Amino acid sequence: MALYGKMMDRPLLVSAILEHGADQFGQQEIVSRETHGPLHRITFAEVAQRSKKLANALAKLGLKPGSVVGSIAWNNARHVELYYGVSGSGLVMHTCNPRLHPEQLAYIINHAEDEVVFFDSTFAPLIKAIASHCSKVKHWICLSDQANTPQVDGVVIQNYEDFIAPHSAVFAWPELDEKSGAALCYTSGTTGNPKGVLYSHRAITLSALSACLPNVLTISSQETVLPVVPMFHINAWCLPYACVIAGAKLVLPGPKLDGASLYELMEAEKVTISAGVPTIWMGLIAHCEQHNLRFSTMRRTGVGGSAMPKALIAKFNDVYKVDVHHGWGMTETTAIATMSNISNHEMDWPVEEQHNLVAKQGKSVFGVELKIVDEEGNTLPRDGSTQGELMVRGQWIVEHYHKAEKTALVNGWFPTGDIATISPDGVMQIRDRTKDVIKSGGEWISSIDLENATIAHPHVAMAAVIGVKHPKWDERPLLLIVPKPEKSLEKQEVMDFLAERVAKWWVPDEVIFVESLPVGGTGKVQKNDLRVKYGSIFTE
Ligand code: AMP
Repeated sequence: MALYGKMMDRPLLVSAILEHGADQFGQQEIVSRETHGPLHRITFAEVAQRSKKLANALAKLGLKPGSVVGSIAWNNARHVELYYGVSGSGLVMHTCNPRLHPEQLAYIINHAEDEVVFFDSTFAPLIKAIASHCSKVKHWICLSDQANTPQVDGVVIQNYEDFIAPHSAVFAWPELDEKSGAALCYTSGTTGNPKGVLYSHRAITLSALSACLPNVLTISSQETVLPVVPMFHINAWCLPYACVIAGAKLVLPGPKLDGASLYELMEAEKVTISAGVPTIWMGLIAHCEQHNLRFSTMRRTGVGGSAMPKALIAKFNDVYKVDVHHGWGMTETTAIATMSNISNHEMDWPVEEQHNLVAKQGKSVFGVELKIVDEEGNTLPRDGSTQGELMVRGQWIVEHYHKAEKTALVNGWFPTGDIATISPDGVMQIRDRTKDVIKSGGEWISSIDLENATIAHPHVAMAAVIGVKHPKWDERPLLLIVPKPEKSLEKQEVMDFLAERVAKWWVPDEVIFVESLPVGGTGKVQKNDLRVKYGSIFTE
């Protein structure tokens, strides 16, 4: 028989994160831009008290352990209180993506069986559109005070401040099983209905601890962290938990995600670390370039969600003196699964090569294992050039989708749908999504590599590449470009630029200049929309 260790068996719980933050860093601040009014400041100790008032208020509604509570909200302080008050009291925090189509939003609220939904006043029109389709929701509560709570025709709306006000700030967090569900997030659902991922307390705690590590985001009580990544999508990469574990000041941008507003907030609150998707950083850098601005305190940014172009990494590093930590993860991985880093033996590499390394998605963080497989499921070599489907496993990777009968795993690994290479020393590079990869004359073309090469052109603001049906080659790449304001670009100029950077046969057959690209709820270009619009241009 195994000889067991004689250690305490204490559960890893979301409520324990809050209690730790309040006890050890009670005066640390959460600063948030609210939908109404000036910046709002609150301490960890106050958040703990208000989360307990919320827990008492929810208990009074008669919700049972495991009942689901929805949120449709920006990154703000009341949303943080929901994260802790809901999960801490044994209920499930279902964060809903407000940028989903209303039909999909109603679908996920019904599928999750939300009984209460908290929302920011911005989303009142959305509540009007979906309320009559969400029969299980008994309470719609606006994350606001009485004065700023909108009327919604035909829906009874309460306001958050009045909802929690009468209740005690004393609440004994239940000692839950750490494997019980704490938070629920649905995948973006580019095909079919969104699928729910139910994160356990254990998965969230381990993933949040990992986010603090030096090779991940280096979060400590010396840092001020601005998560632009939405709290409605993959728990804002667990940063609202990680910052409370580490005692870092948390700055939340609310609804204002444009470059000017983010820059102003970063400077005013002395932000040192931020995290977001590349499209957000493009807006921020465009603002800095236009007004010739530099960051006084920001020195590190975590980026992921889609590939970070090398040109932007170089700009952050060389011009703005900000280190880029480029990571990869998905709804199914709770938060960050891999992160790029420069190790000691790479410190004296030429800068260009270091940027190449950071442009890859990096090494898996402890707790996550990676491999790539071929179509038959055979493991492929880690040689940096063989491509295969990326498979992951680990302590905070999904096993079953919410309410699904069948496992999501194949032989114990989760198939990600991403095509990747892994180098002998473990550096993973995403080459494409299985459905985005372009197969031309039987050979693969990486849409990500083509987009990265295009974005390096100084007149290009955004670029997207899709595979389009072709009578001879099966598929050929089509390139869509949003030029920078007041910059002109010719098709031939782009083709020549790319011909110097990628294999000749990769150069797209057509370049279309557009004013904007469709960007989805999580900041990714909606390639499905582009495929619908342009999918037959080579066969018409
Ligand atoms: P979601 O579950 O909506 O967050 O989408 C996850 C997907 O986003 C992954 O499967 C990847 O296809 C993509 N993704 C996330 N991070 C990156 C990255 N750093 N580079 C390229 N693709 C990424």
